[in-house]
Amino acid sequence: MEERNENIATDICIVGAGPVGLFAVFEAGLLKMRCHVIDALPQVGGQLSEIYPHKPIYDIPGYPQILGQELVDRLMEQVDPFRPGFTLGERVETINRNDDDSLTVITSEHTTVKCKVLVIAGGLGCFEPRKPAIDGLSEFEGKGVAYMVRNPESLRGRNVVLAGGGDSALDWAIFLADIAAKVTLVHRGDTFRGSPDSAGKVFELAKAGRIDLRLHANVTALHGDGHLQELSIHTHQLPLIRIAADHFIPLFGLTPKLGPIADWGLNISQSAISVNVADYSTNADRIYAIGDINTYPGKLKLILCGFHEAALAMQSAFKHVYPDEKLSFKYTTVYGINAF
Ligand SMILES: Cc1cc2nc3c(=O)[nH]c(=O)nc-3n(C[C@H](O)[C@H](O)[C@H](O)COP(=O)(O)OP(=O)(O)OC[C@H]3O[C@@H](n4cnc5c(N)ncnc54)[C@H](O)[C@@H]3O)c2cc1C
Repeated sequence: MEERNENIATDICIVGAGPVGLFAVFEAGLLKMRCHVIDALPQVGGQLSEIYPHKPIYDIPGYPQILGQELVDRLMEQVDPFRPGFTLGERVETINRNDDDSLTVITSEHTTVKCKVLVIAGGLGCFEPRKPAIDGLSEFEGKGVAYMVRNPESLRGRNVVLAGGGDSALDWAIFLADIAAKVTLVHRGDTFRGSPDSAGKVFELAKAGRIDLRLHANVTALHGDGHLQELSIHTHQLPLIRIAADHFIPLFGLTPKLGPIADWGLNISQSAISVNVADYSTNADRIYAIGDINTYPGKLKLILCGFHEAALAMQSAFKHVYPDEKLSFKYTTVYGINAF
């Protein structure tokens, strides 16, 4: 599903593949507007997939209870007829306005998306990794140190050291035990915050010699010449040891930061974008902000409120995509879903 393309042209570019960005694709599709969605995370779903995939949500109309990931899967099913494009794992850095008033969005990996309308559904902003305080850590970023597993295949046959005690560290240790040459999991305690099932599996794999589990331990230094080669681990009982490592992936969670959105010339109030509640447009022509990223009197950061905002914003965006057509409101029960 992930698409990487240097130059993309579309009707609507959506920054953020959270639930609200995804539902905007559906609302745009009903009005025959094509969308391209960009997200800094390697997967769609925003907070639901990243923070609480297994937590039930009780306030989605029509679902007395639905898990976070299940709602994301349903939204993906719902947008499928409209064939949206996705660029994942890339952060939108810059927005430029073109002579014809269209916009060009540029990502961290230099993908460009030219669009008639920009919808910012950036939630709480970009999730940035919590980095452990290890001297020289940044020196090895991209040279063996990463804070997310974007492409597990790139770790096949490699010597991987993970650090952390949550679900990400446990799940990746279990997964990589099958494909990496060696997996070491370094954790500062001896109990895990992640799911007891996953923790049990990690202890079993350690007993079977398939994970090198280092408890009450911390990575204290990295060594290498141009690329990571070894790291030092400090434990309570043992003297400092050095072990070989091609990759070091500290998984200490993510914190949201508004990031580059703050630099796009939009009216920002309390780390959110001020919008006109008539259509959730911003102070910049052709730019809308919906979901958790926007603010207005009475704003509630709820998924269902974001869905409503998406519907109104897309009705308003129609005039920029089809300036010569008049929009008449239609129910989906009457006209159905006309796929692209
Ligand atoms: C633990 C928890 C429980 C919750 N429970 C509920 C509940 O029961 N009911 C409810 O209605 N709400 C709940 N919420 C709130 C709900 O998750 C949010 O309202 C919802 O996720 C907002 O959706 P969104 O699409 O606006 O943003 P998000 O889900 O935050 O998605 C935004 C996306 O934008 C991306 N992004 C940001 N900036 C950029 C950029 N510059 N470039 C590229 N990508 C970018 C981010 O990576 C992210 O994936 C809960 C939240 C939490 C944390």
